[in-house]
Amino acid sequence: MRDKFCLDLTLEDLNAWCEKREVPKYRASQIYGWLSSGTVDTADMTNVPKNVRSMLEEDFIFGGFELREHLVSKIDGTEKFVYGLYDGNIIETVAMRYKPGISVCVSSQAGCKMGCAFCASAKIAFGRSLSAGEILAQISVTQKIIGERIRSVVIMGIGEPFDNYDNVMRFIKLANDPEGLGLGARHITLSTCGLVPRIEEFTKEGLQVNLSISLHAPNDELRKKLMPVAKAYSIEQLMNACKEYTKATSRRITFEYSLFAGVNDTPECARELVKLLKGGLYHVNLISANKVPGTVFQSASPAKVKQFRDILTSGGINATIRREMGSDIMAACGQLRRGKIEEAQC
Ligand code: SF4
Repeated sequence: MRDKFCLDLTLEDLNAWCEKREVPKYRASQIYGWLSSGTVDTADMTNVPKNVRSMLEEDFIFGGFELREHLVSKIDGTEKFVYGLYDGNIIETVAMRYKPGISVCVSSQAGCKMGCAFCASAKIAFGRSLSAGEILAQISVTQKIIGERIRSVVIMGIGEPFDNYDNVMRFIKLANDPEGLGLGARHITLSTCGLVPRIEEFTKEGLQVNLSISLHAPNDELRKKLMPVAKAYSIEQLMNACKEYTKATSRRITFEYSLFAGVNDTPECARELVKLLKGGLYHVNLISANKVPGTVFQSASPAKVKQFRDILTSGGINATIRREMGSDIMAACGQLRRGKIEEAQC
């Protein structure tokens, strides 16, 4: 059982463990309470007897979640955390301050296999998928460090959540648990680059989680240049899956569209996007992206971003402009992890 990370344990797991180890059952709730508050070190579980803590350490992985770096943006207060996992993998978590509260962007994998041309995560070898508890720990441990309650979560950090489907679904259930973090499904947003079969599977889950899709191009030709996933699934297949999702759930989908100068920020692209999304239960988030070192992509100018937004809105598409936060602390997904790994390889 020693291969199970402590934060993957549910209250039922701990009840069963107490019974097996002949530990009084009420200890399960005490231990679960510590874990839910981000404690990954048994030494901190002060109301749990030492012999029970030793048994826990014999059976589960503790302490495999270590803060390696913590940066705070001077521009907007965004905080970035780099965590080291028990097997040497490194992940990133970003906490952003919005009204009315803190939102964290969690990683679902250590690295990413999707290979998007504009992404720092795609430039470094894939590590592994994270367990549900390791995704959860990014919320509970970050919350403990910040000392403030986290109100919402976006699964939009390093990794493709639908490439780690079962663990991400388990994470959502653990995060929802009122005995644990108690984070409502509507406060969780899952972002995918568009793995069509998984979108279809997710539609059947009947969850109240928000779905967001990284689109970044209005046609297959351009999308294939930016996102290799477009070679596997066409925009037509993607849009069919999106239509099915909105029909089955009556929930709106948000499309993320990062604007890169001279690549996908032209008025023609905006007009094509209007045609593609017209009449759907959709919203577009236009992102003025942070510059990613090691890629050729430059952010579109503010005037271009505004022009793009205006074409969408006058075409009847709901669209907002979102500035990427924490530009002074490399807050875009994977940038700091990439720096850390390159540092270690030098
Ligand atoms: S943008 Fe997302 S899906 Fe694409 S390579 Fe980066 S982490 Fe993976």
